[in-house]
Amino acid sequence: MDIDFKKYVANVQDFPEPGVLFRDISPLMADGKAYAAATDKIVEYAKSRGAEMIAGPEARGFIVGCPVAYKMGVGFAPARKKGKLPRETVSVSYDLEYGQASLYMQKDAIKPGQKVLVVDDLMATGGTLAATIKLIEKLGGIVVGTAFLIELTDLHGRDKIKGYDMFTLMQY
Ligand code: IMP
Repeated sequence: MDIDFKKYVANVQDFPEPGVLFRDISPLMADGKAYAAATDKIVEYAKSRGAEMIAGPEARGFIVGCPVAYKMGVGFAPARKKGKLPRETVSVSYDLEYGQASLYMQKDAIKPGQKVLVVDDLMATGGTLAATIKLIEKLGGIVVGTAFLIELTDLHGRDKIKGYDMFTLMQY
């Protein structure tokens, strides 16, 4: 059955600040069939890329990535914000529209040579994705692909991560 996934995205004007149109995936998560169908699409892609591990940034990357990892029978590596991980970490800083942010991964989250798929709910500028890729590569992982529910094409995030394969379920 083909699902119109965009029916399950709420478009919220002026969130989190005036002028921003926020794409909210909560309705998709709230619908068991749509959530499973979206997961299956990413699983299909992950298998085609030979992924041995799924990685995703806090917090919606967990919501999208963990069911993919479970269905494939592989592990999940979280990329987290400062102060969340209890053991030794590697980190990457990246620019936001205003200021800077950092992401962290525990040193044993990825094994050297492991084939990793990066997953998140949405790609905007590609900054979060680029930082997550850097973390994985610092740990010796090989990024075999990237997958998103939503790609905001006007922001040209793909240009930031040239050379990496990408699957996006919806484009706006
Ligand atoms: P980027 O780093 O500019 O590509 O922004 C992507 C990150 O910001 C992802 O982790 C998203 O979860 C979050 N994000 C940015 N805009 C939206 C949106 O409209 N809806 C949901 N998440 C968003």
